[in-house]
Amino acid sequence: ATPTALLVGTGRGAQLGILIKGPEVLESTRAVDTIVLDKTGTVTTGKMTLLDVTTTPDTDVDAVLRLAGAVEDASEHPIAQAIAKGATARVGSLPTPESFENIEGRGVQGIVDGHLVLVGRRSLLDDSALTLDATLEAAMASAENDGKTAVLVAWDGAARAVLVVADSVKPTSAEAITQFAELGLTQILLTGDNKTVARRVGSEVGIEQVIAEVLPEDKAAVVQRLQAEGKVVAMVGDGVNDAAALAQADLGLAMGTGTDAAIEAADVTLVRGDLRSAADAIRLARKTLGTIK
Ligand code: ADP
Ligand code: MG
Repeated sequence: ATPTALLVGTGRGAQLGILIKGPEVLESTRAVDTIVLDKTGTVTTGKMTLLDVTTTPDTDVDAVLRLAGAVEDASEHPIAQAIAKGATARVGSLPTPESFENIEGRGVQGIVDGHLVLVGRRSLLDDSALTLDATLEAAMASAENDGKTAVLVAWDGAARAVLVVADSVKPTSAEAITQFAELGLTQILLTGDNKTVARRVGSEVGIEQVIAEVLPEDKAAVVQRLQAEGKVVAMVGDGVNDAAALAQADLGLAMGTGTDAAIEAADVTLVRGDLRSAADAIRLARKTLGTIK
């Protein structure tokens, strides 16, 4: 393609809400045959809500919300924000943790009111050899059965509560996925979340292939494995835990509503945070490069 045609292509992209880093990106966009979609914040709104709290018999709900809310308030994760918001609504202002640590893809921990508090998925508690009593096991199983995310809360060496959070699929996601299929792309839903949630979201929007329970540092490796199989891979993400995968992909597409790290790592920014723009980008690249050859 001539430099002018490429510039026209990128200019047309800007009008469609697709910011392309350089004209050379159009070539990899055209060649893409596989599209990997991050779940949270990409296919779903990422705006989670705290729906339910179950505690062990001798634990006070307000204490759970105060301690878990305080630690999550220090995190940017959509789950964390839902918990902090739900906690504030019920118990009022939250204390500031004396220490805070984000354990990527698993949860958070911090010291609040002198207690070491853990909030996150089961593997976070496994590391400290914490087990769940029957009440918590049942609450967790029921949440996951419903395709919701169960978050565990522990402090002072005991698991004490299950918080249930969920978000919803974006209204435009199913249509985008139909368009990817029409473009002949293989689609894969990639998430750190559990298999049940991943499958529920996948079937809601029409994606059959789901890779779940992937740690943030392994997301780039999944992309790399597909590339090793000869696939030309596009990855769409919001940058929460997937900036490295966006950089690894042949074509990284960041949701404009995502993090600065995502936008930096990606080749293309979808300004409106609308997944359909990814299909627009691929059509545009095929058109721009196809007509001029
Ligand atoms: P996704 O791939 O869907 O964007 P992440 O990789 O960010 O998800 O997180 C994977 C899982 O780790 C979440 O589904 C959740 O169970 C747990 N998790 C991560 N961060 C937090 C947090 N701040 N609070 C509670 N749980 C968390
Ligand atoms: Mg994400």
